[in-house]
Amino acid sequence: MKMQLAEIAHAVGAINDYKEWENVSVTSVAFDSRHLQPGGLFIPLTGENDGHQFIQSAIDHGAVATLWARDLATAPADFPIIQVADSLKALQALAQYYLMKINPRVVAITGSNGKTTTKDMVASILATQFNVTKTHANFNNEIGVPMTVLSMEPNTEMLVVEMGMDRPGQLDFLSKLVSPDLAVITMIGEAHIEFFGTRDKIADAKMEITHGLSEDGSLVYNGDEPLLRERVTDLSQSQVTFGQGEDNDLFATNVAGTSTATTFTTNEWPDTTFTIPMIGTYNVNNALAALAVATVYRIRPENAQKALANVTLTENRAEWLKGSNGEDILSDVYNSNPTAVKQVLAAFSKTPVTGQRVVVLGDMLELGDQSDAMHAGLADAVDPQAISHVYLVGPHMVALQESLAQRYPDLAVTHFAADDLASLSATLQGSLTAADQILLKGSHGIHLEQVLAALQDPV
Ligand code: ATP
Ligand code: MG
Repeated sequence: MKMQLAEIAHAVGAINDYKEWENVSVTSVAFDSRHLQPGGLFIPLTGENDGHQFIQSAIDHGAVATLWARDLATAPADFPIIQVADSLKALQALAQYYLMKINPRVVAITGSNGKTTTKDMVASILATQFNVTKTHANFNNEIGVPMTVLSMEPNTEMLVVEMGMDRPGQLDFLSKLVSPDLAVITMIGEAHIEFFGTRDKIADAKMEITHGLSEDGSLVYNGDEPLLRERVTDLSQSQVTFGQGEDNDLFATNVAGTSTATTFTTNEWPDTTFTIPMIGTYNVNNALAALAVATVYRIRPENAQKALANVTLTENRAEWLKGSNGEDILSDVYNSNPTAVKQVLAAFSKTPVTGQRVVVLGDMLELGDQSDAMHAGLADAVDPQAISHVYLVGPHMVALQESLAQRYPDLAVTHFAADDLASLSATLQGSLTAADQILLKGSHGIHLEQVLAALQDPV
């Protein structure tokens, strides 16, 4: 990007006299002084730390100007300063201005699960016919979304933004910030139900993504979800549904999988076989969401096909890795909730194996009142024919241990305390062989990545 300080001052409502610096030109923005690029504008945000204290580090990294939401007496002398009342609001206002200036079409993606995966798929597909900028990594909140906007090259034609939410009102805000031309809701799950109480309320909050949707825009949503079907009836924008049901505008046929990839065809393009380099029927749903976007923007199916086959995921959370005993590890250790566990167990239980399939499940956090029932309910997804041993980690998994003991008394189930990952790792390390497969899945707070590290590189 390239903006003059005068433009920035105007966009953010500067409250100081910046005239002497108005021709300074800025080529990027950063709120973390360590990530500041030479020529950048520093945006000192206030979170756990007050960003203002890092101004010297920003200057050392090549900042040419800074926003300042403090008394000017505390600002560095003779350095281009734009004083504002609130630096987060200024960041958002600047993003809004830059978005209007570049004027790309905006695709906004939300959902309880699958946002990042779908975002990467959509961006990959659109990039076959347009210049695309997408959300970097998982920058999906009220800081991440404006940063994504400000990361656009001036020639950007399509901006693909992930939008996360953990409370009502957040998507309302983000949607109005970027006024999407197309909004996508991947699915309604139970993530953050502790704060919402019911799936109904989660669905209400997800629908807020339509609050800024342009009048001639479209909504792509998971039509298998009755809570969404009920809620779209009074929207004036056009709608495209995807999902497993054949009443959706787009659904998959002939789904087949290997241990690393999944193929399927669709009702829309019956002669095109799509391949995605990942397992799990839930990823077919994510791909269907992305293909629904492709239909709106008239992407040719052969382009979508190539794009999906080669999609690069910024954060490939479910990935196959090798352990030091030669075992195959399906690692999915950054995020967990009931839907995701059921899906990944179903996929894992079907992958061909010569030895044993072993499962390690860590607590699913933030499920509130319904936590015990949801942990116990995972027993539905454990197939004792397919799984030899289930290892459980964390206090909430005691509920699953009990339900498995009742249901499948012969199944080997072992529970470990959350602070005893070392014993779990040692047990696994001592029993896994090159013929075996192991699944690791849990909320990030349980830190199964430490078990992964121990299996890959035992000390
Ligand atoms: P976050 O809220 O952390 O940003 P996200 O919505 O971006 O998550 P992804 O990173 O795409 O989601 O996927 C995270 C995990 O969610 C996956 O590893 C998988 O276990 C599960 N998942 C992904 N897509 C779906 C889906 N469509 N339905 C159910 N579960 C899914
Ligand atoms: Mg994400």
